[in-house]
Amino acid sequence: MSDKCIFCMIANREIPAEVVYEDPEIMAFKDLNAMAPVHLLFIPKKHIPTLNDMDEGDVAIAGRMLKVIRDVASSQGIDSAGYRVVANCNKDGGQEVYHLHFHLLGGRGLLWPPG
Ligand code: 5GP
Ligand code: ZN
Repeated sequence: MSDKCIFCMIANREIPAEVVYEDPEIMAFKDLNAMAPVHLLFIPKKHIPTLNDMDEGDVAIAGRMLKVIRDVASSQGIDSAGYRVVANCNKDGGQEVYHLHFHLLGGRGLLWPPG
């Protein structure tokens, strides 16, 4: 838990979010500013600021997050059409919230390359 981190506050249910998945270590909720029909954010409940800050002990949870993303993509019905998983890191990556998260985007054709 990091004071005033918005995603820690969501993980602690101190501020509301539309939660679509939760287990003791991981939470997924709708992005406030959805860029696609399905736009979910997956976070570890543990405060890890960026991908750069992951340590050896976080490898298992990172792997499990990808499995949860895969399962939620299936339950959202976007698995066969396809989807995108994104982690923005630091300034050049466009990171705005400094609590590690993966975006799951789907429900429409997504452009590539990104801007
Ligand atoms: P980043 O640019 O850091 O990868 O993405 C942060 C994402 O968090 C943005 O897509 C933004 O819309 C979303 N976001 C920021 N604040 C909140 C919030 O309070 N609640 C929810 N549900 N999403 C948020
Ligand atoms: Zn946090």
